[in-house]
Amino acid sequence: MFFDTHTHLGSRQFDADLAPVIQRAFDAGVTRMVVPATDLENARRCLALAKEHPGIRVAVGIHPCDVDSVSGSGWIDELRELASDKKVAAIGEVGLDYYHAPPEGWETNAWRAHQAECLRLQLELAVELGLNVVLHNRDSWEDLTAIVMPYSGRLRAVFHCYTGTLEQALPLIEAGHLVSFTGIVTFKNAGQIAETVRTLPGGAYMLETDAPYLAPVPHRGRRCEPAFVADTARAVAKLRGQEVEEVASVTTSTALGFFQGF
Ligand SMILES: [Zn+2]
Repeated sequence: MFFDTHTHLGSRQFDADLAPVIQRAFDAGVTRMVVPATDLENARRCLALAKEHPGIRVAVGIHPCDVDSVSGSGWIDELRELASDKKVAAIGEVGLDYYHAPPEGWETNAWRAHQAECLRLQLELAVELGLNVVLHNRDSWEDLTAIVMPYSGRLRAVFHCYTGTLEQALPLIEAGHLVSFTGIVTFKNAGQIAETVRTLPGGAYMLETDAPYLAPVPHRGRRCEPAFVADTARAVAKLRGQEVEEVASVTTSTALGFFQGF
């Protein structure tokens, strides 16, 4: 009944025990998962994984922290080819990241410009293929929304791992986009995000783990895994004064409307 819309099962951190991790997710009632890729090689790995497991789909894209793996424009053709796979549910994870330092040999402005260029090319590809987009933002909110919002109406985006205010979220939602919440909403110091969770209209948000990162309470500090999306759902239900079944069902149908091919 739960839907983990963002879980990096293609991460090396799951190399040793991926099968039990997926089994624990199904046992916890997590029947559907979207695995976002971080680069072309990782996308192939994620697609191979999705072929073995019904209920798992993939977002293909180059993560802003990994755009040093591509140059020129030949890579976008490679991505287009990967995106034609039936297991592809969206383009992602793409976006901007101003938090992490540029890789060696990159000057900050050039790195940011390259991130923006790669993002634009991938947004164009999403429009071309009729796919929605999974967005990463880290300390880049203004630049990211300035690039993405003009695409409203041509594609829908989910602002993954949303931690902003309701005021920031509403214009996105009015334009047809979504946000998704991670285990951060279970943290004691969740602050403004708790308020956003409480007041956002149903249908405007989805749930995710962002595994292997951001394990929710009571697993905080451990490696995160998709089964834990159930804990985030319970925290969201508590904040909203709803039954967890209701949160699970509304967020699952929101995700089914957003992702292709389930
Ligand atoms: Zn991610």
